[in-house]
Amino acid sequence: MQFTHEHDEIRRTLKRFIADEINPHVDAWEAAEQFPAHEVFKKLGDLGLLGLTKPAESGGMALDYSYSVVMAEALGDIDCGAVPMAIGVQTDMATPALARFGSDALRRDYLAPAIAGDHVACIGVSEPGAGSDVAAIRTTARKDGADYVINGAKMWITNSLQADWMCLLANTSEAAAHKNKSLIVVPMDTPGITKAKKIRKIGMMASDTGLIHFDDVRVPQTNRIGEEGLGFTYQMQQFQEERLWAAANAIEGLSRCIRLTADYARERSIFGRSVLDHQVVHYKLAELKTEVEALRALVYLATEKYVAGGDVTEWASMAKLKSCRLSRLVPDACMQYWGGMGYTWDNPVSRFYRDGRLGSIAGGADEVMLGIIAKYMHTLPARG
Ligand SMILES: Cc1cc2nc3c(=O)[nH]c(=O)nc-3n(C[C@H](O)[C@H](O)[C@H](O)COP(=O)(O)OP(=O)(O)OC[C@H]3O[C@@H](n4cnc5c(N)ncnc54)[C@H](O)[C@@H]3O)c2cc1C
Repeated sequence: MQFTHEHDEIRRTLKRFIADEINPHVDAWEAAEQFPAHEVFKKLGDLGLLGLTKPAESGGMALDYSYSVVMAEALGDIDCGAVPMAIGVQTDMATPALARFGSDALRRDYLAPAIAGDHVACIGVSEPGAGSDVAAIRTTARKDGADYVINGAKMWITNSLQADWMCLLANTSEAAAHKNKSLIVVPMDTPGITKAKKIRKIGMMASDTGLIHFDDVRVPQTNRIGEEGLGFTYQMQQFQEERLWAAANAIEGLSRCIRLTADYARERSIFGRSVLDHQVVHYKLAELKTEVEALRALVYLATEKYVAGGDVTEWASMAKLKSCRLSRLVPDACMQYWGGMGYTWDNPVSRFYRDGRLGSIAGGADEVMLGIIAKYMHTLPARG
């Protein structure tokens, strides 16, 4: 990928911002199982970083997707996975469809404040009974006069306890499962919404993950993003950016995990020499670094294809799959060389280990990625 002065400037700005405004607070936010999303997003909005690829009319910078990828990579400098994930939800998961297909009024009222950092957004696809199988969601939005009346529940929703609005996927008709869905912007203070539960997790501690109930929630039909019945298609498109973003975001954390481990292993002595001096250790770290750089190359290649306008579904899926596999492999291998220290809660590598486990499950599990890749390989059996 060819990097410009603007790419470098984004990297520099984020490095400074993360060092000054985020990393000093990460341990406290992790312990509190929450971070101040409005405060952090406002500062990022003021720096112009929440709308790199969004239209200029909404306050964005209208740059191509390589800039989002560079930002996702740079956010890997944050000392936890939760805060970058929350930022990624705002910039590349809850807002791409709104930017692309939303009406002028919707973009003015919801996209522009999200880009400015005045609103926190979340994306509501998964439900208690449907995650991997997006077509199986049960939440409905029934037409009543000029409104939709929404009933159902969304589960695992990142940012949802602090969010101002949700980009919600709901069934808006009785048509076939891929043609009956719409994306709707739902303000989170609408009567009938209950933030039923904050879900405790094994990692991504600073991120709020909610179970949200919808009980006769009324929003105007004008809050629908784009055409009725195209929500599934829009969401599948939106997933491509989410998956590229997630793959890019993993790279720096994995590299840091290896570097920190080499530093520790160099200092720690066993059997008369440093842990690092044992060939099995430095060879293993060399192998892991090679894997991470292969991931970087795959992410850049997928990004180039996306920027050139091609269908990137297969490549984004391969990039996400590889990043999620490595997010399990690398921290697990590195933890080994820290001995008992690696098994303690506050160790940086144990945080990578806990946070990194999410990738293979969320945003399309590894098996979902394999299914997509197999489909593009024409090796996936047709379902009867
Ligand atoms: C911390 C966290 C944050 C999240 N944030 C959000 C969010 O902001 N918005 C949102 O909408 N969702 C969010 N999710 C939900 C996430 O995307 C789902 O958990 C994920 O899609 C898996 O769905 P599920 O949990 O229902 O598992 P299921 O769909 O029940 O799948 C269970 C397992 O089945 C396996 N599997 C899946 N498909 C296949 C297949 N074809 N063949 C074989 N095996 C398969 C996988 O191993 C999978 O893990 C989040 C989840 C977590 C844990």
